[in-house]
Amino acid sequence: MERTYLIKPHLRRDYPFVSYGRGVYLYDVAGKRYLDGCSGAVTANIGHGVEEIIHVMNEQAKKVAFVYRSQFTSEPAEKLADKLSQLAPGGEYGTFLVNSGSEATETAMKIAIQYWQEKGKMGKNKILSRWLSYHGITIGALSMSGHPTRRARFVPLLEDFPSICAPYCYRCPYHSTYPSCQLQCARELEQAIERIGAEHIAAFIAEPIIGAAGAAITPPDGYYEKIRDICNKYDILLIVDEVMTGLGRTGKMFAIEHWNVQPDLITLGKGLGAGYTPIAATLASKQVLEPIFEGSGVIMSGHTLSANPLSAATALAVLSYVETHRLPEKAAETGRYLFTQLTSFKKRFPWIGDIRGKGLLIGIEFAVPNAKGMLPSPLSFTELVVTKAQHLGLLVYPAAAGNGRDGAAIIIAPPLTITKEEVDELITLLKQTFLQLERELPIGGDD
Ligand code: PMP
Repeated sequence: MERTYLIKPHLRRDYPFVSYGRGVYLYDVAGKRYLDGCSGAVTANIGHGVEEIIHVMNEQAKKVAFVYRSQFTSEPAEKLADKLSQLAPGGEYGTFLVNSGSEATETAMKIAIQYWQEKGKMGKNKILSRWLSYHGITIGALSMSGHPTRRARFVPLLEDFPSICAPYCYRCPYHSTYPSCQLQCARELEQAIERIGAEHIAAFIAEPIIGAAGAAITPPDGYYEKIRDICNKYDILLIVDEVMTGLGRTGKMFAIEHWNVQPDLITLGKGLGAGYTPIAATLASKQVLEPIFEGSGVIMSGHTLSANPLSAATALAVLSYVETHRLPEKAAETGRYLFTQLTSFKKRFPWIGDIRGKGLLIGIEFAVPNAKGMLPSPLSFTELVVTKAQHLGLLVYPAAAGNGRDGAAIIIAPPLTITKEEVDELITLLKQTFLQLERELPIGGDD
């Protein structure tokens, strides 16, 4: 193990040096090829090294890369906001540009609180959220996140925003089954609001399909419609965190479009810059922006690099690529194929507990055969899967599951541009990974 000055996620671990990326593949300096089965952190949605994006980046950098947003606006930033408003589900939205998903959710929280202040409701400043959720790493975003391991060290600084369970049918927190459960997990929001008092609550935030904290936990139909009804009944804004799910990943441009619901605020990140540039966004509906426009007229948030023309031009080029290549439709179609292949794994590997998700956001949760009990050391089991896969040349994303502390799960989320042949290769590599694990661990399975 060599020590370097770069602080990496695991200080005592060796990381391969990347050399370059093309399409769904990454190459390290030793020439080894990796199939990017998770788009990094579900980010490289259009694949690596796309020439037309690089061309736009070059051209914009030659013109101007940075202007400060309180001195200038720019054509790329204006056009990007127009495009997002056009794409957003039902109705007009204004866009506030930031640089990471955490900043986007933090901004959504602030806009929601400001909205109520502008309407004279100064006490509405709590945000409700769910356990098994992830909205970002900054203190505000982490306060909303129901991710026990990421919260643990900072609990004294955090707000207790996670208030209700996740719609986690595989391990239903109420030990019920859909639909006879009558969506108890959604109705729990009403109980939380009654307990805390609607006069203290600005908004409820949720990922349409849960990412890092739940490996693609997908709610049953009717869940979001119920959540929207409850928010309406109690005058609470609905923030939909589409940082991971947005812009085609789940087979729709926005994952919330799988259900018949219109959010008040939407956050985007990852796929917006698709890894070519750090950029994220908070979209606020016209109804939310109106009282702020009429009131103080200032959004009390922002960052030095917000709305820089280079990132905005890059994101605009990415969106144009997503639209021209019909990537949401492609993700739906390829996702169905991948899902079917993975489902057949369940018979061969009985320690696979659940396979779930939509489009090209697919979660695999591991479990002991015939019981929903967990493996002896589940977190390290996830790491084992991820490390073995990478060794074999396949990248998969580690996720939490179970109660968020003892779950073992991964996310499969390749670039939306992946071909059927490349999916077949992904499946082969994953199968090799699982077979190796079986050989080395007492987890059984038959050949
Ligand atoms: N929200 C969701 C749903 C996410 O998946 C993530 C990142 N995993 C974030 C917010 C935070 O984004 P970032 O890491 O860019 O700050």
